[in-house]
Amino acid sequence: MARSPLEIEIRRRIKLAGPMPVRQFMTLCLVDPEHGYYMTRDPLGRGGDFVTSPEISQVFGELIGLWTASVWHLMGNPENIRLVELGPGRGTMMLDILRAVQVVPEFRAAIVVHMVEISPVLRERQQQALGPIDVPVMWHSSFDEVPDGPLIVVANEFFDALPVNQAIKQLNGWYERVVEIDGDGNLVFGIANETIPLFEQLVSANVRDAPFGAICEWRTDSLPLALSQRVVRQGGAALVVDYGHVESAPGETLQAVGGHAFANPLLTPGEVDITAHVDFQALAMAAESMGARVHGPVDQGQFLRNLGVEKRTAALKAYAPREKIDEIDFAVRRLLGEGRTEMGKLFKAMAFADPNLGTLPAFEPASE
Ligand code: SAH
Repeated sequence: MARSPLEIEIRRRIKLAGPMPVRQFMTLCLVDPEHGYYMTRDPLGRGGDFVTSPEISQVFGELIGLWTASVWHLMGNPENIRLVELGPGRGTMMLDILRAVQVVPEFRAAIVVHMVEISPVLRERQQQALGPIDVPVMWHSSFDEVPDGPLIVVANEFFDALPVNQAIKQLNGWYERVVEIDGDGNLVFGIANETIPLFEQLVSANVRDAPFGAICEWRTDSLPLALSQRVVRQGGAALVVDYGHVESAPGETLQAVGGHAFANPLLTPGEVDITAHVDFQALAMAAESMGARVHGPVDQGQFLRNLGVEKRTAALKAYAPREKIDEIDFAVRRLLGEGRTEMGKLFKAMAFADPNLGTLPAFEPASE
């Protein structure tokens, strides 16, 4: 099989500088300016590599739109609000949000949209999608560029694309996991030469006590801290919807997907999507350390039910042509279902917010 341009570049770097930490490998695969997966293509949709909730049904973005409107009320209806989306893909969710919030005109009039998107290809797609919209929209390549002021942030399937570090447990301690070139000239996973100093002292007991060969993943990205600091200091909330685990635990979740099927992450770097589960406990700890209040996580299915998915779906069906009804039901079942290929349980919603806002909509404790 021909080597991808990024594989050639990665091999060159390994030959020059030695084995490459998994985090650096994942970063290059996804966002290398020239060959990175997201930088060179629109991976979404049926003809692409994977499908996300906003692409499955408009109901998803619409309900999140209603959630943002309720948060705005809790914030005391500020006259200016930054509505920020991290990693907006094709811009579909923002379109659905802005359509749904037409029912709260004062909120819609207060919005300036800030799209945080690193990919020039997807940014162009978003610009096309939002072109006809009568709300001001600005683009940034990182969250730091979003101007100060009260904000509501939404992010669907964004945090799983942030690179992870991996460590592997050996008899005498934990070593960073790396990508290297084996005797046959193939890219393979390996381990660094030295143990990571103080690793055992820094991790929780369930990681410390993991068996020989266990892999542990973590993210060092400062974005959760920056987001939490902003909502606490300037008012607002951030909503994260993604797949992941509720408690930090050892285990490898790094995975590659191409053409809607699992792939070997080392085979065609830059040509397949690489993600890892979101560690919601780590996210919550980062947010709390900045003084934010954490809401959830709750399962996506529960979150959407709390937001009234049944009613919204019924309304959509009431106006749909007959031949579309099954399609709508099928799509919504995929968002809510608890099966392995469905998203209701696999995905979670978590928010962190200015503690003055009280309990956020859809995160109220169950009333039984
Ligand atoms: N939220 C969209 C797309 C999810 S795919 C949806 O649900 O359909 C991940 C998105 O995050 C893409 O738009 C990708 O280009 C963007 N992205 C990935 N890494 C990023 C980074 N470091 N900074 C900004 N955007 C990033």
